[in-house]
Amino acid sequence: MSGILSGIKLQETGYDDYVIYEKADRLGGTWRENRYAGVACDVPSHLYSYAFAPNPNWSHRFSPGAEIQAYFEKVAHDYGVEERIRFEEEVTRCEFKDGRWQLETSKGSSDEVDFVIAATGVLHHPNLPPIEGLDKFEGECFHTARWDHSVPLAGRRVGVIGTGSTAIQITGALADQVEHFTLFQRTPQWIMPQDNPAYTEAEREEFRKHPERMKELRDSIAAMFADNFATAVVDSSSPLLDQIESLCRQNLEDSVSDPELREKLRPNYRAGCKRLIMSDRFYQALQQPNAELVTEAIERIEPNGVRTSDGRLRELDVLVIATGFRVDRFMRPMDVIGRDGVQLEEAWADRPAAYLSVTIPDFPNFYMLNGPNGPVGNFSLIDVADLQLGYILQLVEKVASGACSEISAEAVALQAFEEERVKAAANTVWVTGCNSWYLDDRGIPAVWPWTFHRFRERMASPDWSAYEMVG
Ligand code: NAP
Repeated sequence: MSGILSGIKLQETGYDDYVIYEKADRLGGTWRENRYAGVACDVPSHLYSYAFAPNPNWSHRFSPGAEIQAYFEKVAHDYGVEERIRFEEEVTRCEFKDGRWQLETSKGSSDEVDFVIAATGVLHHPNLPPIEGLDKFEGECFHTARWDHSVPLAGRRVGVIGTGSTAIQITGALADQVEHFTLFQRTPQWIMPQDNPAYTEAEREEFRKHPERMKELRDSIAAMFADNFATAVVDSSSPLLDQIESLCRQNLEDSVSDPELREKLRPNYRAGCKRLIMSDRFYQALQQPNAELVTEAIERIEPNGVRTSDGRLRELDVLVIATGFRVDRFMRPMDVIGRDGVQLEEAWADRPAAYLSVTIPDFPNFYMLNGPNGPVGNFSLIDVADLQLGYILQLVEKVASGACSEISAEAVALQAFEEERVKAAANTVWVTGCNSWYLDDRGIPAVWPWTFHRFRERMASPDWSAYEMVG
């Protein structure tokens, strides 16, 4: 998503001499890799689209993953970006030498470039749980982002470990398609009811004829997100969080009839503390006669199933690992070496950090989209990347105009930003008593702790005093 965006915007701004490296044989990022049953985006489709490329043909308010993948393929093709992608060519090493970046790729080529934009994603590297015996399972087993579509599911016993957004979507789509479905829950989730109507052909025709209607719709959804949800999550005393919680509670009461099951599904932390989940199918799916929710802790995986702390073994044919991602990896395992031989691994020895999520001291002319500590989880990542790219292009322009030859954040600017960020993070809903991938190794949210409005303001133009400009 953000790589394609970069190509389009670079082209538009007149920086035509660019290359996009893609490790896979196909573009699409998240939507290429996540093809599990039920995959969809919980950001409304008219917002989860590039602002400059509205799509009148979205099938639903929240469209399925395959449609989003097709959208990115079409945009990349229509804007002439596809032909600029070097597929199956992973960047393995990136070193800043004599004022330029030397790139090495998996195909053995060495390229030299002035700027690098790392558009490598966040929710990307599968997190495999350290559960004893995982490698001993004799049935089929895969992580949700590595779904093996050759494995038949109908008529089989399928188990899913995890209850994040991914597992909830899978449960909704798969429970009634298999012989027996078991969901292993460590922590219950708040579930918001989701209304996901299909757009009628008349509505789509209206969008085609009047693109301004799509813009109005996009703007209104964006304003609603920014003013409501994205503002509430950074203020744990927000009344909106109470309203969200009571909607979720009502959803649980209305949807789950068995009191025992209802209690197993009731969270004991504030709604919004973990990534809020929306689903119109999850509770219904779990109440199918062939579905089972297991809340006893997993003790180990055995060759034919999962053994829980009560001593019971659930025999399974297929085990799906829905345990999320290692969100502190970013562009790694790429070897990144900045000015004077400083290694990214050293700069990030404690944990990943970047000034305004975009630039790292001593890594001049190297910028990130959806890098560390950005508003991931509060808004559409497309608009986040778009704003970041607009900011990055201003840094690039500084060099292109001859004002300097190298530009990166000052170390003191990053330090001050981090201090301010950590302080603000204490007010967010993410620290109100739950565990989630938003939290770093210290338990401090690793995401933008301010409003989206503030993010937009900070991205509008760089504060040049925060920058080290050389040459
Ligand atoms: P996740 O939110 O990190 O959830 C991981 C799940 O695995 C949690 O329920 C966690 O339990 C469980 N888990 C982890 N380790 C475990 C272990 N050792 N034993 C038992 N359970 C374990 O991952 P995700 O569901 O893949 O979602 C990641 C993010 O991707 C989402 O938050 C969202 O931002 C994005 N996403 C978005 C959409 C969308 O519609 N836009 C769809 C899917 C994903 P605990 O809660 O107890 O830690």
